[in-house]
Amino acid sequence: MKVAILGAGESGVGAALLAAKEGVEVWVSDKGQIADAFKKELEQNNLPYEEGEHTWEKIAQADLVIKSPGIPDKVPLIQQLLAKGIPVISEIEWASRYTNSPIIGITGSNGKTTTTTLLYHLLAQAGKDVAMAGNVGKSFARQLTEAHKELYVLELSSFQLDGIEDFKPWIALLLNITPDHLDRYDYQMEKYVQSKFRITKNQGKEDQFIYFGEDPNISSHRKLIPEAVQQLPIETGMIDGKTILANGESFDLSTTRLRGKHNALNALFAVHTAQACGLSAAEIQTSLASFHPVEHRLESVATIDEVEYINDSKATNVDAVFYALQAMEKPIIWIVGGVDKGNEYDPLMPFVKEKVKAIVCLGLDNKKIIETFGSLEVPIRETDSAAKAVQESRQLSKTGDVVLLSPACASFDLFKNYLDRGNQFREAVIAMKNE
Ligand code: ADP
Repeated sequence: MKVAILGAGESGVGAALLAAKEGVEVWVSDKGQIADAFKKELEQNNLPYEEGEHTWEKIAQADLVIKSPGIPDKVPLIQQLLAKGIPVISEIEWASRYTNSPIIGITGSNGKTTTTTLLYHLLAQAGKDVAMAGNVGKSFARQLTEAHKELYVLELSSFQLDGIEDFKPWIALLLNITPDHLDRYDYQMEKYVQSKFRITKNQGKEDQFIYFGEDPNISSHRKLIPEAVQQLPIETGMIDGKTILANGESFDLSTTRLRGKHNALNALFAVHTAQACGLSAAEIQTSLASFHPVEHRLESVATIDEVEYINDSKATNVDAVFYALQAMEKPIIWIVGGVDKGNEYDPLMPFVKEKVKAIVCLGLDNKKIIETFGSLEVPIRETDSAAKAVQESRQLSKTGDVVLLSPACASFDLFKNYLDRGNQFREAVIAMKNE
């Protein structure tokens, strides 16, 4: 069999390494420049590749094409391959063909990384032979080349799910579905919802599907869940203040670093899954308390003059900001803005009116934010760097406030990515603290 791999990032290179390990002939093609570290890996493993172009003659010789999640289905190359009858799959589908270990797959518009890392932490602390992969850390394919594990926890994006055929998780988690990435789905929410539901399409009676039962985009599509699958809806009624309830056991979140209702929901998903894997309540409670949330998600950076600075740079859509504003218990100086993805800010209005005392725009084009919130009686300032946003926020804040970077937008106007934005914010805060 010959395989062509399109895109030489983490998933493409992982897929190539797995192909090499399995003795499959492979050709890697990237239209852009391949990062040096990945190029080196391909060369060290004698894996042939091209960069800066896609040579049709080479790619069309393949029996199977593995596509990077970054390449949309509608590009002519993919359409031509499909027209020629060559299957195009994602690296997740490819990798899943090379293991029989059970898989826990986690998807949703928000909370994937938090829930995946939390669940992995619970399972690893309990001594399970488990690895975490997918959209977080290593690609699934690379993980399989390194060590065999008895259980895999995978973070899955909608783009990865678009490219599955037979992929069948033992437990599938669907955290929520709110508007995101609509540019890749012809601006049709329905297509995005269908994509997320693909996580359950191959599940059978031995498998479990855990989903947020109160999410209207999920509950309205329950017909997409295969009948035989064991279903478990997560409900907000399972949250009682700082306590969560799962299968008659209760867990105290007040001793953990998980803040906000969204994290209580994420914890409910992780805890139910951990229980299904046989963990005891005591094991779960201890590990909940030792979990450190991932950076750039409501990350408390520092407190200066009794003002807490919080980095939520990963909040790149409106729903994530909704939960961030909801979680705040003090008056907020809100740093927002960047590249708008077609945002509708209305759901935030009640929280903004109730809690936000000043808005600091951090973006090149802040028109929409100013138009939306300009009628409220709160100061709005425009800035074009993280350092200026932090300085401005300091001037606007008083003892007991929080400064919250929760942008609701992508970061590419002023930053390389959300990590760069969060890091620059953190550095600016720490520099100010050390002044
Ligand atoms: P993802 O991997 O799906 O992008 P993350 O765990 O990285 O999710 O969190 C992304 C953003 O969404 C952060 O700002 C975080 O605070 C927020 N968030 C986390 N969990 C949820 C949830 N269950 N619902 C809504 N927003 C959430």
